[in-house]
Amino acid sequence: MLSDTEVQRILIIVAHPDDVDFGAAGTIARWTDAGIEVVYCIVTDGDAGGHDDSVPRAEIAPLRRKEQTAAAACVGVTDLRFLGYPDGRVEATLGLRKDLARVIRQVRPDRVVCPSPERNYARMGVSHPDHRAVGSAALDAIYPDARIPFAFPELRAEEGLEPWTVREVWLPGGPAPNHYVDVTDTFHRKVAALRAHESQTGHMDKLEEFLRGWLARAAAQGGLPEGRLAEAFQVLDSG
Ligand SMILES: [Zn+2]
Repeated sequence: MLSDTEVQRILIIVAHPDDVDFGAAGTIARWTDAGIEVVYCIVTDGDAGGHDDSVPRAEIAPLRRKEQTAAAACVGVTDLRFLGYPDGRVEATLGLRKDLARVIRQVRPDRVVCPSPERNYARMGVSHPDHRAVGSAALDAIYPDARIPFAFPELRAEEGLEPWTVREVWLPGGPAPNHYVDVTDTFHRKVAALRAHESQTGHMDKLEEFLRGWLARAAAQGGLPEGRLAEAFQVLDSG
């Protein structure tokens, strides 16, 4: 596994606004504190999210972009790329792979964080079809699309984007977690980031308790001392 001191840039690819904050915000705060540049690529605007019929659907996408931008600021991230795919209808198409390969070649990250393409039978929510589609397209975009010069040759010929090798992939909620990041000291920023998604979390009175319980279980699973909180990842060598 790469040491954080070997990492200059990290790209986070997610399906919806708020996915990154549930899965990895505490870890991201640690990375930006260490001077690592972190960029978010958010595939949909989460325009099918929320439960409030009184809010016109057309207002949801701009609202959720605004909330995600505020959430990113809580953990030191200011570079966000929204791809604007329709929420709830994402498929791992060649078009999505090309869009993700473009962002990878533009950002040139050492490490990518993306969803697992596999269904988790124990937790339905984490296996939302958009998450699985984005995970599958992201891994294909890392290899072969971003790496091979003649995959999507127009990226190079028309946009001047040279091939790029991502060295490591982190899957939050991956099927076989093998790395646990202690986020006890950045937990309050994760909570603030999730609170910034007001349209999604405004009704969750017990959000902090829920997160504390979830991250404490991850810490215990990872063998961290009692009282610590952790985010769990499956880390893959992709170099
Ligand atoms: Zn999601």
